[in-house]
Amino acid sequence: MNGPPPDRLLQVPIEGGGSAVLAELEVAAVDPSLPAATRQLLAQAADALRAASADVRDAQTRYHALFHAVPDPVSVIAADGTVLDLNHAGMAAYRRPRHEVVGQPIHVLNPDLPEDHMAPVLEALDRGETYVIEVSNMRADGTRFPVEVHSAGFDRDGQRCVVAVARDLSRRREAEVRYHDLLEQIDKGIVIQSADGSVLHANSAALRMLGVREGTPVPRDGSLPAQWMALRADGSELPLAEYPSLRALHEGRIVRSTVLGLFHRTQRRLLWLSVTSIPHYAAGGDRPDQVLSMFSDVTGLKRDSALFDRVQALASIGGWEWDRASGQLYLTREAAHILGRTRHLGSMEAMLACLLTGDAARLRQVLAGATGGTGFDLDLQGQRGDGQAFWVRVIGESGSGVAGSALVTGTLQDITVSKHGEQNLRVLARSDPLTGLLNRDAMLAEIRERLADGQPVSVLYIDLDRFKLINDVLGHAAGDDLLTAAAERLRRAVGEEGLIARFGGDEFLVVCSCGDDPARPERLADSILDAFAIGFGFDSDEFVVTASIGLARSPQDGADAQTLIQHADAAMYESKRRTRNGRLAYNPALAQSKRDRLQFETQLRHAADNQEFHLVYQPQVELASGRVVGAEALIRWRNERLGEMRPDHFIAQAEGTGDIVRIGHWVLHEACRQVAAWRDEGLGIVRVAVNVSYRQLLGSDLTASLRSLLRGFDLPGSALELEFTERVLIEDAPETLGNFAALRALGVGLAIDDFGEGYSALNYLRRLPIQGLKLSQLFVSGVPDNQSDVAVCQAVAGIARSLRLALVAEGIEHEAQRHFLLQLGVPVGQGFLFAPGLLPDAFAAHARSRLAGDPRAPSTVR
Ligand code: C2E
Ligand code: MG
Ligand code: MG
Repeated sequence: MNGPPPDRLLQVPIEGGGSAVLAELEVAAVDPSLPAATRQLLAQAADALRAASADVRDAQTRYHALFHAVPDPVSVIAADGTVLDLNHAGMAAYRRPRHEVVGQPIHVLNPDLPEDHMAPVLEALDRGETYVIEVSNMRADGTRFPVEVHSAGFDRDGQRCVVAVARDLSRRREAEVRYHDLLEQIDKGIVIQSADGSVLHANSAALRMLGVREGTPVPRDGSLPAQWMALRADGSELPLAEYPSLRALHEGRIVRSTVLGLFHRTQRRLLWLSVTSIPHYAAGGDRPDQVLSMFSDVTGLKRDSALFDRVQALASIGGWEWDRASGQLYLTREAAHILGRTRHLGSMEAMLACLLTGDAARLRQVLAGATGGTGFDLDLQGQRGDGQAFWVRVIGESGSGVAGSALVTGTLQDITVSKHGEQNLRVLARSDPLTGLLNRDAMLAEIRERLADGQPVSVLYIDLDRFKLINDVLGHAAGDDLLTAAAERLRRAVGEEGLIARFGGDEFLVVCSCGDDPARPERLADSILDAFAIGFGFDSDEFVVTASIGLARSPQDGADAQTLIQHADAAMYESKRRTRNGRLAYNPALAQSKRDRLQFETQLRHAADNQEFHLVYQPQVELASGRVVGAEALIRWRNERLGEMRPDHFIAQAEGTGDIVRIGHWVLHEACRQVAAWRDEGLGIVRVAVNVSYRQLLGSDLTASLRSLLRGFDLPGSALELEFTERVLIEDAPETLGNFAALRALGVGLAIDDFGEGYSALNYLRRLPIQGLKLSQLFVSGVPDNQSDVAVCQAVAGIARSLRLALVAEGIEHEAQRHFLLQLGVPVGQGFLFAPGLLPDAFAAHARSRLAGDPRAPSTVR
């Protein structure tokens, strides 16, 4: 800088004095009274003074410019504390004109200063130091503001002076307060550490999150308090060197959003933090001297995201986002898992590559069309990396609006299981659950389809003979086993030549085409009959269950599925009626027999109400004497349209429909009425045997109705004997024993009919309160010539004898049979040899004529 230093400058008279001297010099320099040399000298002095004054003015101008240009208040203060000068910034800051301050003690600006305030300032200045002090300054209106005053000393006219620069701290204070408030109010934890890692400051959020009280000592190396352990996102322990703060210090760069866990060993508390560490460089420093770490508690977020992942995994639903502009594809973990790929599939093309070609093309097409908020929903098939096929449901929607228009987002759901389920359901919907064969609907559809194709179709209607019996006698589980086994035999018999369906109950349908091979239907029917030739085993027993088959073929027997099936059914029924275990092709006459059957069923239902039944009584005679000892009541049905019918034709039917219970009750009532009538006619009490179906025992309270009948007709129980077939023994319903005991308690006799024909089980005979057996006419008819019939008759007679049961032989037609049975020790018999079933009057007459001695005292009287 040119010119004199500022302290010198201030010693030069600034106003007035200098110019007066110059004027005097200028006057003297031209004073003719003075010698020329003196005048010249004076002129030179005046020039020098003029030049010096000009310099001073320049310096003063510069000083003023500088003094007033300083943006902070600057004052010049004498050693006694009097203000000598104040710059513009000072006037503005104190809001006072210069003259109110200059010449006043410094206290006008600095009211808090002690009286001897200048002493320490001057002492410091003497030591060559700058004196810095924070005080408050006062404005004209008395308001104050904080300042930091830097003071420096200089001499003026041999006097110590102080120049004081006051820096307004208001802004900084405000910033500091704001910074502090921010630090304390922010919900993020903030920790400031020095370069060695020791903690300089931790805000209250940090203390709260870490559960540390203020003032708690923490390790000086930047590690955590001992009770805490730091964890990586995957749960492994995080080494000290990897702490974000220490990495920021070490690497000298910001370490952003590191998720780390803090595990409190004693409280067993786990906290997840997302930490960002920012290194701080001191002015001019090339290494960070501090690091500020900011963190937030993401425990909830992490839990939510873990939960979200889990939920996705559980629901097999993933998410995806495709940025059309960049081609980038983001998949959630589950979405990638569903596709059987890593999460970083990266692009939509890579995802399309996971799908079957056709499905990839479909997705590509909808993606191309998905713009402006449109959505789509596709079921797609693909293949995983390991080759496993999968089904996914992809739902997507393009973003709307300018910002999101490039984004297509959606879900991806694994529907493999439900797709398989659907397929299974489709199969299930078509199949019979028990046998796995096609069901009725599926078969109808098949037939319709073939007929629509113009194929000649043959239908075989198959019904198992005696299935109802097995089902009734051995129970439903055995019935099911039989059906399953029958289905298997059908499969083997039919092979690839036809389709098989279970049509309901024990009915099956086989459909085959007969265009190429007209004999196929009959051939298949024969191989099915063969397949049923062998018995079915149940436990240790074997039962022969044959089949009856009806055939119908298109177009001659029907042009539509329904008609074909109906006609095959009619043929089957007729075949069964004629001879079981056979096949019959449909012919129009069968339609009539089917109609007859329907008519028969309807008529039977109303027969009891229409009083179409009556009973005939077949005498039971003492084989030795021919005396009538009782009768068996046999039902007859006389119908206007159908004529007279024997029970073989309608009892089984009535058992099937359940009508037998009502019919059976009518029989018992009629038998009792008749016995009472004969008694009243003086014939005495004829013991009458009544056939009772096993269904009556199951389906009604037989004992109660019998009791009231006997009471009503005033008959002893011994007037009746109930004949049950062996089916009732095998049934083994838990109540059988109880029912028998109750019947027995009424005094009625109980006998097993047709003994030896069915499933005789001797232990039942011992358990049940039976009085008699009826030796089946099946065996009686063969004696005395047929050796096996002879053997059966001998065995049954032996059983009756050893169990002390009465024995009645039935179906005796010839004298030889009577003789044989008599020899065998069978006491009583019935049969055409003696009499057929007789109308009541005929029976009464017959009984009377067979009475030895007094006709009014028949031996039938008990
Ligand atoms: P069942 O109880 O064994 O009756 C004997 C059957 O043999 C009767 O046939 C009878 O007419 C017939 N019969 C009698 N003597 C001879 C003979 O010497 N030679 C031959 N070949 N047959 C003879 P029906 O009346 O046709 O009865 C058939 C079956 O119907 C009966 O067999 C019985 O099981 C059943 N039944 C008859 N009436 C009733 C009834 O009221 N209720 C029930 N539930 N079943 C009945
Ligand atoms: Mg009988
Ligand atoms: Mg019998």
